[in-house]
Amino acid sequence: MSARAELLEIVGQLKSLLISYPQIGLDPSTGLKPRGEERVKKSGPSISLGAVRVSNGSGSTLSMPGAPVLRSGATAEGGEAQGSRRVELPRLSRESVSDSNVEPSPPSDLDSLRAFIGDCKRCKLSQGRTHLVFGEGSPSARLVFVGEGPGAEEDAAGRPFVGEAGKLLTKIIEGGMGLKREDVYICNVVKCRPPHNRDPESEEIQTCLAFLKQQLGIIKPEVICTLGRIAAKSLLGREFKITQERGNWFSFMETPLMATFHPAYILRNPSEEHQLKRAVWEDVKKMMRQLGLKVRTDE
Ligand code: URA
Repeated sequence: MSARAELLEIVGQLKSLLISYPQIGLDPSTGLKPRGEERVKKSGPSISLGAVRVSNGSGSTLSMPGAPVLRSGATAEGGEAQGSRRVELPRLSRESVSDSNVEPSPPSDLDSLRAFIGDCKRCKLSQGRTHLVFGEGSPSARLVFVGEGPGAEEDAAGRPFVGEAGKLLTKIIEGGMGLKREDVYICNVVKCRPPHNRDPESEEIQTCLAFLKQQLGIIKPEVICTLGRIAAKSLLGREFKITQERGNWFSFMETPLMATFHPAYILRNPSEEHQLKRAVWEDVKKMMRQLGLKVRTDE
């Protein structure tokens, strides 16, 4: 079948689905929202319509496991025609509509999210990685640190912040904040190591950000701490001048976000080490106050 014929067939099916909407409690003018429902999850997964992709608003397509599938040769009533091509659509049964959960729900815990991400090949960073570095720590952490992306040691270990910068981060968490590393959650904007530790590209960031948002949505921290310019820029969605803007409160997913220097930046600038560490300590104290943690008075 030609591409045009296939497209026409899909359009025909969508039309027939629209016609059947009123019978199954949907309003054709609001698409897949059940009638009277204000909001279908904004950041939920996108729906893949063969070649047509419906965005999930985060720049990435997330086909969820177990997403109901309607073949392009099938009718809304469940009949099946010839020449099937898989077209994923939300299940249009009365039960799913009355659930008011028209879109398949995203993973609700970190293990399911990790399983869903799987052996990810959604961007080209996958080509050079040894391990995908998902993140680690408490699933109910009150504080989440977000770095830029795994380095060589993280890529080899499959764990975030385990190299020299990681040792300094652990010192900040344990020595400075008086917490245990496993009490917080540590992850990165991108989960695969960029070649030669280059900055992640915007497409790579956008692809992976969808999963970081899901991680944060599951953990629901009280404070997010971005480490370095790239992490702040990625979450805030704009250029970020780390030397000028760090130490201020921002907001991401309605959560207070503190942007501070990346520990690797401190290590790369030994001549400024004292000054940079002082600045980070100031930022750390702000986060501790926000979390209601006791700040040492000997500083
Ligand atoms: N730098 C990062 O940004 N993340 C890591 O996991 C390690 C180093």
